Amino acid sequence: MKIDTGDALPLGLKFTWICSRCEGEDFEQVDNTTFKCLSCGRFFTMDVLMDENRKREKEYLEEFREAFRAALKRRLEERKKDK
Ligand SMILES: [Zn+2]
Repeated sequence: MKIDTGDALPLGLKFTWICSRCEGEDFEQVDNTTFKCLSCGRFFTMDVLMDENRKREKEYLEEFREAFRAALKRRLEERKKDK
């Protein structure tokens, strides 16, 4: 099972959390708060996972912002050409 943002982000964007020890993306939910990494067998809670992925999350969103800005700029330039 992959743990990701699902439909929480707009425009079909999806952020997938990874295990900080082995970078695996497959987890098994052990109980309400505990997950197990299927690649290295590490146990951790969602809090730990989110905390460890905070930096990646930030980089991901920054990349998205850049892409959005670039797309917007291209649009504006195309409009200028039409006139
Ligand atoms: Zn792992």
